[in-house]
Amino acid sequence: MAYFGPYPWWTPEQVEFQKKTAAFLDTLVEEEMVSRWTREFPFELYEKIGATGMTGAAIPAEYGGLGLGATGSCIVAEECWKRFPGIGRIVVGNFNGGLRQVYEHGTEEQKKRMLPPIAGGELGAVAITEVTAGTDASGMSLVAKREGDYYVLNGRKRFIVAAGVADRYFIYAQTSFDPVDIKKHRHLSAFIIHKGDEGFHSEKINEILGFENVQNGSLYLKDVKVPVADRLGEEGEGWAILMGGLNFERTNIAATMSGLHRGMIQYIFDYPARRVQFGKAVIDQPIVQEKIANIIMRAKILRDSVFVTAYKWDLGMDVTIDASAVKGLAAGLALQSGDDASQIMAGDGINRFYPIQNWFELGKADHIAGGTVEACRLTVYGQGKKKLGEDAVMPRRVLDPKLRVPVPTYKPVEAKVEATAENLLAILAENYLINPGLHMMPEDIMMYMDADADKVQELIAELKAAGDVITVDNRKTGAAKLVAASYPGLDKAHDRTWYEWYPEYVKADPRRTF
Ligand SMILES: Cc1cc2nc3c(=O)[nH]c(=O)nc-3n(C[C@H](O)[C@H](O)[C@H](O)COP(=O)(O)OP(=O)(O)OC[C@H]3O[C@@H](n4cnc5c(N)ncnc54)[C@H](O)[C@@H]3O)c2cc1C
Repeated sequence: MAYFGPYPWWTPEQVEFQKKTAAFLDTLVEEEMVSRWTREFPFELYEKIGATGMTGAAIPAEYGGLGLGATGSCIVAEECWKRFPGIGRIVVGNFNGGLRQVYEHGTEEQKKRMLPPIAGGELGAVAITEVTAGTDASGMSLVAKREGDYYVLNGRKRFIVAAGVADRYFIYAQTSFDPVDIKKHRHLSAFIIHKGDEGFHSEKINEILGFENVQNGSLYLKDVKVPVADRLGEEGEGWAILMGGLNFERTNIAATMSGLHRGMIQYIFDYPARRVQFGKAVIDQPIVQEKIANIIMRAKILRDSVFVTAYKWDLGMDVTIDASAVKGLAAGLALQSGDDASQIMAGDGINRFYPIQNWFELGKADHIAGGTVEACRLTVYGQGKKKLGEDAVMPRRVLDPKLRVPVPTYKPVEAKVEATAENLLAILAENYLINPGLHMMPEDIMMYMDADADKVQELIAELKAAGDVITVDNRKTGAAKLVAASYPGLDKAHDRTWYEWYPEYVKADPRRTF
């Protein structure tokens, strides 16, 4: 069995689907490569792919899909990108362009009406980005104004995959200018519009790195009328819909990066095994073997992570951190592997007569598509701060009584001390030894002192007035957020010798202390 085969938790249907998808896509590779050379969008090829229903892999059967979950869509993304990242991007763009958004936020009527075309391969796109709204997607200014049973949309979008060739566009627009709504991200709404809608045009096609046979471009909307029935969710829910859609998109993009690795792996053994320099195959050079090993390591870690994330989706778990984490790392790994793979093949690695250069270039493009790798990290940081809970709590540290070095402990504090300024200074002095360089938060102090938050603030203020502590204060309330003993405070709490600590080898030699 191939190493990059099914995972043990896949259902028999998912296992069979991977096999069938791979076999079918194998039949299209020649045609796809020709379209890269002619730089023509391969409409016929896409139609063949669309007709298989694979773009509906993640759509439940009741809405015309294959019911294979996010695992199914990741199988499609990966298998396509192993063979042809160009048209693969369009296939993935189709299900990123509305599938999850409609499934999660559509009414029953909308699901029945909008999901079957996605499952049937109708070419779709997602339109978020604007001139003013890149990473700060909420800064978009394409406007949707309600007029009776319609919204009238005016504005522009840019960097849209499948611009000009897609039939369906999942588009976000500003519906409120109220500063409170804007602050609370309630100013956006989501709509579906279609090619041929009056006033809807493509404006420009970008010459983007790695885009050989597919399009990425700008959209122009002038008084485009969209029925209220084609708004997804309530007015003002656009941001929540957008973020949910991005999680799905990022998971699928990570799967494409796994496919990209698998694509390159097809070449990294066989090419250098046949390339002779200095009288022997270059694969016999340890430095080449190291590059191959690095690519395989990245491929393995990434693929496991992609399909575990997909499985979590399918179990209905929260994947907000996972989706951005896996996409944020995937693009970096892809770029490194593209660099290694192209280096193994050197001149041929960056030459269009071999396909490696295209995967290499697209590793870079996907540093940016679906939210930059930095934007992924913003999400991971923000969500991590909220959701990692006890996994991200530094253990309490205490002084080992014998060695007088800090050691972590999970035991509770045995007894709290009385709330006095003197005791607070003693706690801060001990913190100087236990957590060198760190201030304490009021809640840290409350672990050791029998005092509520107000009392702690009162004692801090008393010590501050005496010059015994330094603080960082809340700008609005003036309350101390962080506090540490000042140098005079440390002296007041204990004699100099109380703070001293020397390793045994220093203690043993009196010339080395002072
Ligand atoms: C190949 C490709 C396909 C795409 N497809 C689509 C599509 O189909 N639909 C769509 O709507 N959009 C699409 N995009 C647009 C893409 O989502 C945006 O390009 C991306 O969100 C970044 O926006 P920007 O290019 O305007 O960069 P900017 O937002 O201007 O960012 C510039 C730099 O600043 C960094 N930065 C910005 N803000 C912060 C911050 N707060 N903290 C740290 N760093 C920050 C960025 O990470 C980046 O390095 C695509 C882009 C590419 C390249």
